[in-house]
Amino acid sequence: MNLKPFAADPQKSLGRQFKEAPSKLRNDFQRDRDRIIHSGAFRRLEYKTQVFVNHEGDMFRTRLTHSLEVAQVARGISRTLGLHEDLAEAIALAHDLGHTPFGHAGQTALNRCMKEYGGFEHNLQSLRIVDSLENDYVDFKGLNLTFETREGILKHCSNKNALKLGEVGKRFIQKKQPSLEAQLVNFADEIAYNHHDIDDGYRSGLVTFDQLKGLSFFNEISVEVKSESPSINEKQCIKSTIRRMMNIFIMDLCQYSKAQIDRENFNCIDDIRNADPMIGLSEDMAKKQQSLKRFLREALYLHPRVQAMTDNANDVINSIFEKLMQNPGLINITNEQSQNELAILVSDYIAGMTDRFALQTFKKLCQSKIS
Ligand code: MG
Repeated sequence: MNLKPFAADPQKSLGRQFKEAPSKLRNDFQRDRDRIIHSGAFRRLEYKTQVFVNHEGDMFRTRLTHSLEVAQVARGISRTLGLHEDLAEAIALAHDLGHTPFGHAGQTALNRCMKEYGGFEHNLQSLRIVDSLENDYVDFKGLNLTFETREGILKHCSNKNALKLGEVGKRFIQKKQPSLEAQLVNFADEIAYNHHDIDDGYRSGLVTFDQLKGLSFFNEISVEVKSESPSINEKQCIKSTIRRMMNIFIMDLCQYSKAQIDRENFNCIDDIRNADPMIGLSEDMAKKQQSLKRFLREALYLHPRVQAMTDNANDVINSIFEKLMQNPGLINITNEQSQNELAILVSDYIAGMTDRFALQTFKKLCQSKIS
């Protein structure tokens, strides 16, 4: 690895909450990545929705395949910019661990249920999982990850919540930045989902080629693809176009970010934390990204079939939440804690569910005795 002096360095890590002897084989960021991959929360990503509910089809992205795609994009950007690939990979693999079942619809529903109890936010939940909810280790709670991985997982956070989080929350109050590795994972996430949602949208039949051609950036590239290979079929043309678009975004991100970094004189990671955000897209590509997101929102996320799934998610999560708040014994929670503590336990339980487990629980708890 050809690392820049301002890249994250496992040798100079701000450490783990519980001190551990170093591994003989792996650096600390690799060790973080491995702990994430071996966690139960990571395995459950396989059965959690990105846009389409998991049982809608085997060909669509899930949170697991999304996380792998983000990690792949993040590693490439990281290497190009001379940053630490292992850290970028660990953050990318963990970035969606806190997602509820049923994608954003599930998060909105759970947040509404938790309104009186501090709300629900998936980023914060990802950190809670790695900091305390995973319980496979004897010596500590959670996965005991390095500060740098935890800093990257906590993408945004309100000041109110940041105050409760100690060191890892400080940057939100002090308005500082995380490492460049963390910054680039956010962009890798957006680039990955914008493009794979076009692909899944088309394969689901909810977004057509004609609609896609209404998006000027897509159209421009697809005309180019078609003129190079006139016999190409529609599906191949869409695939090639998506690949090229992704490549253009990633190249632009690397070039633009490198130029921004080169204008400064950074010597260490703390210089990065004290500077403005350095990773970004050029103005032209940022505009293209905006129009891509607008297109996906209108054509796919607000599509009646996706909306129907959203409404269903709302019902399922609300009903399970209410049922468990009234009968915590159903999941072996005693009545000894405050309402607030109970709500957090119930919320952790629901947030950890896969789509199908949430549907099974809903059937079992909420639909069994309708007569
Ligand atoms: Mg994501």
